Amino acid sequence: MKLVSVVVPCYNEQEVLPMFYEEITKISAQMSNEFPELEFEYLFINDGSKDTTLDLLRSLAEKDKRVRYISFSRNFGKESGMYAGLKNSKGEYIVVMDADLQHPPAFLPKMYNYVRNGEYDCATTRRVSRKGESKVRSWFARLFYRIMNKISQTEIVDGAQDFRFMTRQMVDAILDMSEYNRFSKGIFSWVGFNTKYIEYENVERPAGTSSWSFWGLFKYSLEGIMAFSTAPLAIASLLGILTCAFAFVLIVVTIIRSIFGWLDAPDGYPTLLCLIFLFSGLQLFCVGILGQYLSKTYLETKNRPIYITKETEDTYRQRKKAAAQNSQFQQSAETENK
Ligand code: UDP
Ligand code: MG
Repeated sequence: MKLVSVVVPCYNEQEVLPMFYEEITKISAQMSNEFPELEFEYLFINDGSKDTTLDLLRSLAEKDKRVRYISFSRNFGKESGMYAGLKNSKGEYIVVMDADLQHPPAFLPKMYNYVRNGEYDCATTRRVSRKGESKVRSWFARLFYRIMNKISQTEIVDGAQDFRFMTRQMVDAILDMSEYNRFSKGIFSWVGFNTKYIEYENVERPAGTSSWSFWGLFKYSLEGIMAFSTAPLAIASLLGILTCAFAFVLIVVTIIRSIFGWLDAPDGYPTLLCLIFLFSGLQLFCVGILGQYLSKTYLETKNRPIYITKETEDTYRQRKKAAAQNSQFQQSAETENK
């Protein structure tokens, strides 16, 4: 049997949680029918909800053995919720999804189909339209993805979501990134592996409200940029170089003008101006150098893995053996059926 852990971060979701539970159990029953090798566990993370989410989870766990939950001491944010869920999941496959049904459970069989034969390590959805979102918000979102993909080596796909069906191997790689400031969209992409993007139209929440304000999203996007790019630290260097270059031009112009007597400024003024530009440029440049060292230190302190292995000859052999056994098992099951 193969266990699928469904990780669901919840923050004030009392209105949708019962609906979600109903949907997810329906789809898991359907999947266990279609793929008899699958079992499910649901791991809910109560992220310091102020409503009755925790009570709901308690009663769900009482009546359904597959339900587990972790309740935080306060609100730590969705990122922490996902991390806790991945860390405590036991399954061979791990699903991360929102509680608000904006990540339709109906996609799960399709996602599993991509992941089961090992062609992909992760299947996720990518929304193609930003319907139901304000124009300003969409514009900022697009701008964010453009900037991010310019200045960071980690590719972040526009519209990609935290709705993922992943293998244990990929999740272990994600857990190896123990950084405190977590920007999942970046982390999912940083660890590599083959990801299948399934396109779909955005779905609105059936109840409850989104906990993201515009300001919250803005801060989150800055966090993303800072976590996956050190380009902002290089800005000082660049500005410094530009200012110095300007100062040199100014010096040359001033010298030429004073040689030919074209200068009608008060004594010492042009020299002062040139020196101000020259030294502020040098200062910025030096700050930029400090920034470069800071960025290296910053990356070191994140303690990210140096590399992530996907396959060795050993794991390849094991997988082949398991596949052979599997087909044997299926054949014998078929002959028994006959
Ligand atoms: N969430 C959470 N902690 C928070 C905020 C949100 O665990 O501090 C959960 C929330 O319960 C939901 C998911 O993260 O399951 C997505 O949140 P939301 O629907 O508010 O975000 P949106 O869909 O608008 O991006
Ligand atoms: Mg939502």
